[in-house]
Amino acid sequence: MTTRFDAAIVGAGPAGAAAAILLARAGWSVALIERQAFPRRKVCGECIASSNLALLDALGIGARIDARAGADLRRVALMRGAETIVAALPAGIDPHRWGRAIGREHLDTWLADAAEEAGAVRWQPASLESIAGRAGDFVLTVRSLSGEGVGAELRAGLVVAAHGSWQPLPAERQAQRATRAPSDLFAFKANFRGAALAADLLPVLAFPGGYGGMVVADDGIATLAGCIRDDRLQALRGAEPGGRAGDVFEAMLRRECRGVASALDGAAREGAWLASGPLRPGIRLGRRRVDEGGVFRIGNAAGEAHPIVGEGISMALQSAFIVAALLGPERAQLVGSASATAAQRRALAAYEAIWRRRFTRRLRVAAAFAHVAMRPALARVAWPLARRWPGVLTVGARLGDKTRCAPEAARLAGQTA
Ligand SMILES: Cc1cc2nc3c(=O)[nH]c(=O)nc-3n(C[C@H](O)[C@H](O)[C@H](O)COP(=O)(O)OP(=O)(O)OC[C@H]3O[C@@H](n4cnc5c(N)ncnc54)[C@H](O)[C@@H]3O)c2cc1C
Repeated sequence: MTTRFDAAIVGAGPAGAAAAILLARAGWSVALIERQAFPRRKVCGECIASSNLALLDALGIGARIDARAGADLRRVALMRGAETIVAALPAGIDPHRWGRAIGREHLDTWLADAAEEAGAVRWQPASLESIAGRAGDFVLTVRSLSGEGVGAELRAGLVVAAHGSWQPLPAERQAQRATRAPSDLFAFKANFRGAALAADLLPVLAFPGGYGGMVVADDGIATLAGCIRDDRLQALRGAEPGGRAGDVFEAMLRRECRGVASALDGAAREGAWLASGPLRPGIRLGRRRVDEGGVFRIGNAAGEAHPIVGEGISMALQSAFIVAALLGPERAQLVGSASATAAQRRALAAYEAIWRRRFTRRLRVAAAFAHVAMRPALARVAWPLARRWPGVLTVGARLGDKTRCAPEAARLAGQTA
């Protein structure tokens, strides 16, 4: 197998696979490194905002999404305690006016397959262990996770980090363990068959110490996903010794949120509860430790919005398109020339400036919603307002950029922004 590439992309979630497709189409030789075998389920609410469906068309999987995903999501509901408030979701631009939901076992598999079809070489299941070298000539150590787990060295002119945010790279693990905090969020997701949930409704759940969401995705299967602070989770587990974290989370939701109890009454869970974390939403750009030279971070590896707004897949896809729009045409300068380091440094600065311009507001809006949902004192103030003017939910969704695609991404996808 070739072991020298123009670009190595670490992680084949929506960010990494999209970048792999776009760079391979632009004539780059691409290695796509993914530690998990696909298809795999993943903790996620699985809603794709309308503004991204055109990007998925451009990546070549639009028809499959259209055929398989859940119904158009036209309404949002806020569920807290015994109450539910419903409002319209803002419409996007034709032909994709409404968001849809699709299981990550499908979305991620289709995208990674499309990357391979575009010419990317998949290293999967294989884990990136370390990055050394410098821009123009990075050396990556990759450990195969099938069979004997043999290690291999791979060289790449440029590295795109798309490894998400919940599994730090080996060099960062120690630091993450050392900084556990009560406010760390742990995330859970399960699927249910036979849930009593309207197909066009996107309920957002608020409860002390956390938030979540429900939706009907492909094949009529409902996804229930949410985040809970570590201190609240520990308190719940303390009250139910021996209980599995996912079951404790589900029991709390059924107890504390009538909307969840009604939706799941008579429904059957399919598969186990999945868990991940800790989550620490925020911006991760500019961290150089791993590479000492510059790595292009996209998706959650660049920055993570509180998932209450369900914008993570959007930011993953859109940041991949932005990186590809900037890097794609410049392959000769970025990886083949004597001045690759300087060229990459300039491109990285340009990319990170665009990233901040396009996504910082989403992170702030998401953080504001998350804190209102999680903190009873704030929720008590905000709730009467939402009850009286449900339209604030529609405005909130618009403020969270649910209908707006980064123009750089839209242009590369052949759309008008
Ligand atoms: C509870 C919850 C609900 C959510 N709901 C929604 C929603 O409804 N809509 C939405 O848009 N977003 C939602 N999100 C956010 C969304 O799931 C993420 O933002 C999105 O998955 C980020 O995509 P990514 O490609 O950046 O990273 P990921 O999807 O995390 O992919 C990263 C990949 O990198 C791989 N990897 C990691 N380390 C290595 C390594 N060392 N070597 C090789 N591979 C590696 C991983 O296995 C993984 O496949 C939700 C998140 C949570 C927690």
